[in-house]
Amino acid sequence: MSSEFTTLEQRILLAKGLTEEQLAILIGAGVASRADFATIGTAATLCQLVPGLTDSVAIDVMGWGIGGPVAGGIDLPGGGPFVLDSPDAVYCLHCKTKQPKDYHSGDLCVACGKQAEPILSCFWCSSSGPGTFCRQCGAEFVPTAELDLAILLKREGMPKDAVPDKLRTMSGDDKDVLWGRVRKSRG
Ligand SMILES: [Zn+2]
Ligand SMILES: [Zn+2]
Repeated sequence: MSSEFTTLEQRILLAKGLTEEQLAILIGAGVASRADFATIGTAATLCQLVPGLTDSVAIDVMGWGIGGPVAGGIDLPGGGPFVLDSPDAVYCLHCKTKQPKDYHSGDLCVACGKQAEPILSCFWCSSSGPGTFCRQCGAEFVPTAELDLAILLKREGMPKDAVPDKLRTMSGDDKDVLWGRVRKSRG
């Protein structure tokens, strides 16, 4: 099967930032159709085939060539590798089923009927919500079982960001001591 890029495909590749020279190298390497990008697989491999190609052009070209998000190979500044799922997808905590698009926090899982994600209370501002961080004040949620410990640490003047870290690194003995103080503060 003789295949080569159509004029349109060549135009698209040039528009993505390839130079005429890089396009020629690509074709010389045996890449002659959009389907061949699936064989290349990652933007990193594309960079190896075409010397001088920048990461961003490679990602753009691969995104077009594969027709979807590019898997791994290059870490984007600040973003990490592409992920296939939209970032707001919610998965059930209990059975890992992806929740429908019209999911609202607090809804029950469509597959198992349990609450799909836990609603946690914020130790800092005492509002509650789903996820890892408080929507109201940005504090990281602590496990519900340690909420009282976190509230105590807050009362004692520990900064908002330090409390979840402190609880994570604290030994069981230290927590016991802290629980003693919680009980005392309850009177
Ligand atoms: Zn479920
Ligand atoms: Zn909060």
